[in-house]
Amino acid sequence: MLYDAFPAIEVKWRFTGVEQRRTSCELCGHDIAHVYYARSNTGAVIGVGCDCINTLLDPDERGKVELFTRRMNRAAAQWSKKLPAPKDGETRDQYIVRRVTEMGNARAASNAYAAIGHQGFTDARLTARNEHKAELDDLRSKITSNYSAESNAYMQRISEIENAAIDKLHAQVEAKYKANRFDFNRQAWEVRKI
Ligand SMILES: [Zn+2]
Repeated sequence: MLYDAFPAIEVKWRFTGVEQRRTSCELCGHDIAHVYYARSNTGAVIGVGCDCINTLLDPDERGKVELFTRRMNRAAAQWSKKLPAPKDGETRDQYIVRRVTEMGNARAASNAYAAIGHQGFTDARLTARNEHKAELDDLRSKITSNYSAESNAYMQRISEIENAAIDKLHAQVEAKYKANRFDFNRQAWEVRKI
């Protein structure tokens, strides 16, 4: 039979992302405020509402929609509090897109950060102290008593120098993984929930 020469192609949809935008659903035509995008195994791309995306997707793909939606809502709440702080000139939409991406990269960044380990942080502190040796020696030479204001200033300067070194480690992980320390600089079990 002719029919047998054209076996049915099973169209499978994969969720590819979500965007906050007022438009209409490409499947049912309803007005929507969030567009959920899916791509099919035949190459088609569609933007639909939250009901239609769930009709379109297999159950294992629906979990991704929930995860993205959760991250997007969290990012919107963070924008309201400005925590973590937006970049200079960043719009609300840009912030949300960036933050959702960063949340998606948090686990890889957390693993990389953990791999630096205790020794890595100790080394960074020591290197920083060596780089500022002259300045620190000078301060130390001026200390007359363990409890003087000068002594206090010396301790404070050491921690400033060390904090800058740790900050650099954070910044390296952030740049390499397009992640945010706000997400990855916490307990592994907390990072897994992001
Ligand atoms: Zn729809």
